[in-house]
Amino acid sequence: MSNEADNPATEAPGLPWDVQDAPARRATLTRILVRIAREALQGDDLESLLQGICNCLVVELPVPIASIILLDEPATHFVREVWAGELMLDPQPIATGWPVTRGASGRCARLGTPQLILDVDDDPDYIAGHPEVRSEYLVPIRHRQRLHGVLNIECTRPEFLDAEACAVFDAVADVVAGAIHFARIADELTEANHKLERLSMSDGLTGIANRRRFDRQLEADWARLARERRPLALLIVDADAFKPLNDALGHLRGDECLRELAHLCGRFAGDGDLVARFGGEELVLLLPGCELARACAIAESLRLAVADAAMPHPASPVAPHVTVSIGVSACVPQANVPPEWLVATADRAMYAAKQGGRNQVRAADEGVAASAAGLSQEPPREAAAPRR
Ligand code: GH3
Ligand code: MG
Ligand code: MG
Repeated sequence: MSNEADNPATEAPGLPWDVQDAPARRATLTRILVRIAREALQGDDLESLLQGICNCLVVELPVPIASIILLDEPATHFVREVWAGELMLDPQPIATGWPVTRGASGRCARLGTPQLILDVDDDPDYIAGHPEVRSEYLVPIRHRQRLHGVLNIECTRPEFLDAEACAVFDAVADVVAGAIHFARIADELTEANHKLERLSMSDGLTGIANRRRFDRQLEADWARLARERRPLALLIVDADAFKPLNDALGHLRGDECLRELAHLCGRFAGDGDLVARFGGEELVLLLPGCELARACAIAESLRLAVADAAMPHPASPVAPHVTVSIGVSACVPQANVPPEWLVATADRAMYAAKQGGRNQVRAADEGVAASAAGLSQEPPREAAAPRR
């Protein structure tokens, strides 16, 4: 937390520029440069950092407007402006993309060199932003080869823009360039981390959630629904005779079937539900708030949808097309029972479906047919061990 004395933007300004002697002016410029360097290190985000820098410039200098105008990636349009002072120009065109073919700022970006305009009335490109402005200094904001934008200083006093002041603004532009560069690196790192996080949670073959994501979601849903005393259902969907399918049609066709199965499962998942690849040719649907009877009905609709898709399976002992066996389990979670209980019971049900002849749905209570499934089950006090 910074207090008022530490915050450069709230420090009291010194004497007005025109009553300062030359050493005092030099001291002011140096002080401003130090403040700006500090501002560049302290900003929480790029926007507030740039704003702090513009504020510093207008506080003590005869500068009614200081702005930092940022370019898009190809450096053809200004797309964002941060400014301090009394800008009377409508900043709207910047928000919609201001081409570098326009204005003195555009010329600075195009040429890539500082532009000193001692009398704005004589400059063909100058676009007035304030009636009292007499002179302007524009500096490219560049980090190595990349042009990020333009620093724009507008002055009421032409003689203010002497070599010393311009050198200070050149240094300010360098500080801004460094700050933008590091902020962009931070943004890119954040984006890369998000991408990695997404990749680490999704299955490469089918694009749906992977086992890691499922485990995480199961644990979160289990804890939440235990608190809310609402049910959680799980479907384990196992492709029947998938090894013979690979053997008959090849693994690439098997992969295609898995993608299609994942797609079909997705049709039965609503908001807050999760479809994931549990492993191999097994997919799962995690359905928060869903009781056993509804979960069994969903499973049965899914089984029929897979059959309707009529994916050829010349080597299946069950049907001429791809079929699935589905195990269903549901309960109101209890905090002292691990979530694996739900997986173990759905898994047992799935194996019962296999033993019952495949291409069918079985609910967790062995022998309970899908059509007979009723109210939600309470899990036992102790978790059942997985049967595999
Ligand atoms: P069951 O009806 O008892 O489930 O028989 P199954 O052949 O499906 O079961 P098994 O566990 O013997 O074989 C599963 C097969 O799933 C074996 C494996 O080659 C195949 N499989 C697992 N992952 C993939 C995958 O990513 N792509 C393809 N094409 N096949 C896979
Ligand atoms: Mg399997
Ligand atoms: Mg199988």
